[in-house]
Amino acid sequence: MAVPKKKTSPSRRGMRRSHQALSADAHQECGNCGEIKRPHHVCPRCGHYDGREVAAGDKLKGVVRV
Ligand SMILES: [Zn+2]
Repeated sequence: MAVPKKKTSPSRRGMRRSHQALSADAHQECGNCGEIKRPHHVCPRCGHYDGREVAAGDKLKGVVRV
């Protein structure tokens, strides 16, 4: 098994972890109902996309494809 020759210093460890921060998911308001939704996705609440209804509001599974 490969074994590190030297102990990783706090500085090195910090440099490595500087890239590990999580960012918030992208979101925007639905133009129809104002619900927060993911960009470029059908609104899960009202089923609208690009100003028209393309899916039933409640059961969205397997629908999408605009
Ligand atoms: Zn909506």
